[in-house]
Amino acid sequence: MDTIYYKAHGNLYLNLTNRCTADCVFCIRNFATGVYGYDLRLSKEPSVEEIIEALEKLDLSKYREIVFTGLGEPTLRLDVLLEVTHWLKKRELKVRLDTNGHASLIHPKKDVITELKRAGIDSISVSLNAESEETYNRLCRPAHKNAYRAVLDFVREARKAGIPTRVTVVELPEIDVEKCRKLAAELDSDFHVRKLSEAASKKNKKDPRA
Ligand code: SF4
Repeated sequence: MDTIYYKAHGNLYLNLTNRCTADCVFCIRNFATGVYGYDLRLSKEPSVEEIIEALEKLDLSKYREIVFTGLGEPTLRLDVLLEVTHWLKKRELKVRLDTNGHASLIHPKKDVITELKRAGIDSISVSLNAESEETYNRLCRPAHKNAYRAVLDFVREARKAGIPTRVTVVELPEIDVEKCRKLAAELDSDFHVRKLSEAASKKNKKDPRA
């Protein structure tokens, strides 16, 4: 059976899709089938009904946050993300979105931040991963042009809308963490450095561009 949700760090994580508009050299998808012992490969993307049916069986009040993340980019399924957020917020749960920040490129005709705000999202965590466009393109290999600019704009818009936002980087020698920290401050966002997963780190030692 597919893993629609998984538990870790006192949070409940939702796995909406395996698709992504980036192909980061450090992405767990390149090294493993999932995280924390869960296989996150989906045989099909879960519908709103399937997600809610699965969530209804849980005591959601015991989790600190319900987080849209998983083995892919959640905003590729924006309608599902919004509908499930709405359902969760009706139950007064804390909801976070982990995203690559490409939403305006994926949905150029939509005002994604306004829609997220309206649905009641509590916070957003955006993978920044680089201090410059050149480094970003090399490490994250985005499908869209101008993705780095879109990521920065996404963070700015989220902050303008008053949504608590944090930007993250992965601890890699290619990334200037201090410049990213400064950029996060300029973007009025919190900052978090993520450790490379063990699997990715082993592979990276052999071939950092793999
Ligand atoms: S943005 Fe996230 S899911 Fe997409 S390739 Fe990069 S690390 Fe993987």
